[in-house]
Amino acid sequence: MRKISHWIDGQVVDGTSGRTGVVWDPATGEQQATVDLASAGEVAAAVAAAQAAFPGWRATGLSQRAEVMFRLRDLVDANRKELASLVSSEHGKVLSDALGEIARGLENVEFACGIPHLLKGGYSEQAASGVDVYSIRQPLGVVAGITPFNFPAMVPMWMFANALACGNTFVLKPSEKDPSAAMFLAELLAQAGLPAGCFNVVQGDKEAVDALLDHPDVKAVSFVGSTPVARAIYEAGTKAGKRVQALGGAKNHMLVLPDADLDMAADAAVSAAYGSAGERCMAVSVVVALDTVADELVARIAQRVSAIKVGPGTDPANEMGPLITGEHRDKVAGYVNGAAGQGATVVVDGTTDVEATGFFLNPSLIDHVEPGMASYDDEIFGPVLAVTRVSSYDEGLALINDNPYGNGTAIFTRDGGAARAFQFDVEVGMVGVNVPIPVPVSYYSFGGWKSSLFGDQHMYGPEGVNFYTRSKVVTSRWPDPATSTIDLGFPENR
Ligand code: NAD
Repeated sequence: MRKISHWIDGQVVDGTSGRTGVVWDPATGEQQATVDLASAGEVAAAVAAAQAAFPGWRATGLSQRAEVMFRLRDLVDANRKELASLVSSEHGKVLSDALGEIARGLENVEFACGIPHLLKGGYSEQAASGVDVYSIRQPLGVVAGITPFNFPAMVPMWMFANALACGNTFVLKPSEKDPSAAMFLAELLAQAGLPAGCFNVVQGDKEAVDALLDHPDVKAVSFVGSTPVARAIYEAGTKAGKRVQALGGAKNHMLVLPDADLDMAADAAVSAAYGSAGERCMAVSVVVALDTVADELVARIAQRVSAIKVGPGTDPANEMGPLITGEHRDKVAGYVNGAAGQGATVVVDGTTDVEATGFFLNPSLIDHVEPGMASYDDEIFGPVLAVTRVSSYDEGLALINDNPYGNGTAIFTRDGGAARAFQFDVEVGMVGVNVPIPVPVSYYSFGGWKSSLFGDQHMYGPEGVNFYTRSKVVTSRWPDPATSTIDLGFPENR
């Protein structure tokens, strides 16, 4: 059985805790590897390696740090097919989707190539007579990233590209469900010339996460995962004096106004709801349809849902792969099976005719879903699209704003004024206008509102650079010592 271990101080290090986890092949339902689960001592070894590497790395010139990012960019690009197969085999997503994840992750490495420009500070000459003031941004030290199963390559790149380019050293704790992509990226970083110790991977579960949160040398924690864990990590991390950005779960609504092109809206809803089997934090999970077009829209979505090809991610003919585990598949199926009993209408039941092997589930469509039903209130994180009907734009907006999550949302309309009003009033961090999955490009920042993000800084882009640096302001003067006097008054500039 293949064994996946840690990456500490520039090399693969076997686990010693005696605890291991199972890595499944979701397409067959068979175990394909074991993963070592780190103890607090193993986490401490990774943090010590990162701490030892920090002084040298932060002193490395900006052009040299950028050069590592340029080389990494080429290496990830050259190896993207291999990385995508690894992601597909452990996560289950189809190869084209895995390639898309890598392309979006790579954008963050490309952004980090511009680090000399991004870290330029401000300079005010002659703030007072003969006095200059300037600001600089400096790295924090050892920073940790804790990442979810659903983007095992992209989300680590969201974090470590900027963190390393800013001069920090990094300890990554990937999801124990698909741990290989992190090891692959560690090897590519080493090939790109990153010194040993600057990037480390500890495989593990809650025990490893708690050890990172408790470790005094870990100065900041970036987390992406479910809301309950995000909240707990934010609370524990900030209590321990760390800087924390913790991105949580989602329930993304797509509002369809009567003037929208219904075929385009149906195409968008299906693409955004069932891509990656709905295991995306930006997946559309609720279509909010105005009553006047709801019947027609549901019919067009249902027609498309039935045509989705489900099967192993390795076959390019398939559009949707299996779910991550059998346990998760059963939980998702439970929402579909319980929907009718709560008053909803199951239009397409994806729990029937399911592939016999692997963790497959077919796509489901549930109509007449309302707040208070489990299929509305919970983040299902599977191939299940709910439709909620509303009688007006205002009712749709209020529904979205009342939802505790605020990750992504979209409006489909041909009315620019309505779209402008929606963008102005909606309480969600990322908004699409006729764009169903509005993941910001890497030179903006990614993050939701409300229970979808705990912390003040969004991830990657300019806010990522802010998160991984702290500012220092220098006030300087070079007077003639002969003019020096004692003055106990508070320094004034006028
Ligand atoms: P998860 O919260 O179960 O796990 C995320 C990470 O936390 C993993 O590394 C896991 O090992 C660790 N972890 C799990 N339980 C823990 C605990 N009790 N204490 C400490 N650490 C723990 O999430 P997941 O199932 O891997 O990923 C799916 C979730 O992530 C969904 O809720 C999805 O919406 C969310 N997500 C959010 C975003 C975003 O940008 N907002 C992006 C991707 C995924």
